[in-house]
Amino acid sequence: MRLELVTIGTELLLGFTVDTNAAWIGRTLAEHGISVVRRATVPDDPAAIRDAVRDGLERTGFVLTTGGLGPTRDDITKAAVAALFGRRVVFDESVWADLVDRYARMGRPLSDANRSQAGVPEGATVLPNPRGTAPGLWITGDSGTVAMVPGVPREMRGLLQAEVIPRLTASAGDDVIRSVTLRTAGIPESNLAVDLGDAESAIAPVTLAYLPDVTGVDLRLTSWNAPRAVADQQLQAAATLIRARAGKHVYGEGDADLAAVVLDRLRRRGYRLAVAESCTGGLLGGRLTGVPGSSTVFVGGTIAYANQAKIDQLGVSEADLASHGAVSEAIALQMAAGAARNFAADMAVGVTGIAGPDGGTADKPVGTIWLGFQSPDGRWAERVVFPGNRTEIRARAIQFALYRLLQILPE
Ligand code: AMP
Ligand code: MG
Repeated sequence: MRLELVTIGTELLLGFTVDTNAAWIGRTLAEHGISVVRRATVPDDPAAIRDAVRDGLERTGFVLTTGGLGPTRDDITKAAVAALFGRRVVFDESVWADLVDRYARMGRPLSDANRSQAGVPEGATVLPNPRGTAPGLWITGDSGTVAMVPGVPREMRGLLQAEVIPRLTASAGDDVIRSVTLRTAGIPESNLAVDLGDAESAIAPVTLAYLPDVTGVDLRLTSWNAPRAVADQQLQAAATLIRARAGKHVYGEGDADLAAVVLDRLRRRGYRLAVAESCTGGLLGGRLTGVPGSSTVFVGGTIAYANQAKIDQLGVSEADLASHGAVSEAIALQMAAGAARNFAADMAVGVTGIAGPDGGTADKPVGTIWLGFQSPDGRWAERVVFPGNRTEIRARAIQFALYRLLQILPE
């Protein structure tokens, strides 16, 4: 089953409203084996709506629209689609009765604008919308079928689940489109591709997508149009193969949070963690405390941004600051040691770096980060240089610190 999606609303094109409907519809229909093969966004303009729907029908015979069904003057989807099918919009007594009922219950007066909401293209099926005042519509003609639902995300989702998807799956069969996401950290996309080798052909017909972000590369595996049990089996086999090749970089599936995985491993070892942060300004502590239940593992952190704060709060050596600079191996190590001492922690991480945009030099360019680690097994430091702007560099530094902790805490 293939269809095209047309999301309608000038606000979507202006970028004031993010088209979350399109993302949700793509994901949800895929779960039911229905492919959105193309999508268009058009303004609240009758000709634009008509053209997009007509083109979609020519290609797939089925178009789903969201938006433009409300009582306001810019909501004109119904009339545009009716015109395309050569149908009149007629006043529907039962839709009107529902509206009268609804407004009476809310104790609000109905206005003339609401009368247009009771208009239904001749021959269309009304899809009840208990969450709002504009019902959905389903209309079939020689050129195919158009399903129209309101743009309000909550109403759209309700109508899709209760009315549209059941009608679509009645003709779509049992096949599904399913995905599994493996999350990786500590390796750039291109190196990951080398590690994975010929994985893409080995896992066929499952497909592999690389989805890089500042916190790592997600690997999305997708099984297309197979019965649910077959899809699950295919995905499991593919995930096993990918894990075998990208093993140490994979920290979880789906929406797994690296901070949560690290905290779990620390908890199992009975270790308590502390941090000392300079350039990340508390973001690492923020990430860790964002995980529910982190207090059993994460003790606390010191934000020491100025040199004097590093000396006063973490016991960093003034002489080392002068001779090596704040972004150096010696200082990262002393920061970690200071945090371990301050919070009586078993493990500690110190982060110091140059997040930019200013402050870079030839031997310490913007993006240079020194990470210091202290654990019951010893202490060491590591220099990394990250690309990107200030926000990205700080996010990468945090994720990399967590990734290193993960590596030194085997399962
Ligand atoms: P409408 O059905 O066109 O009256 O849309 C009503 C509300 O839903 C407006 O606040 C829109 O911004 C919002 N909306 C419409 N289309 C979308 C969409 N594709 N994604 C997210 N929100 C939307
Ligand atoms: Mg609108």
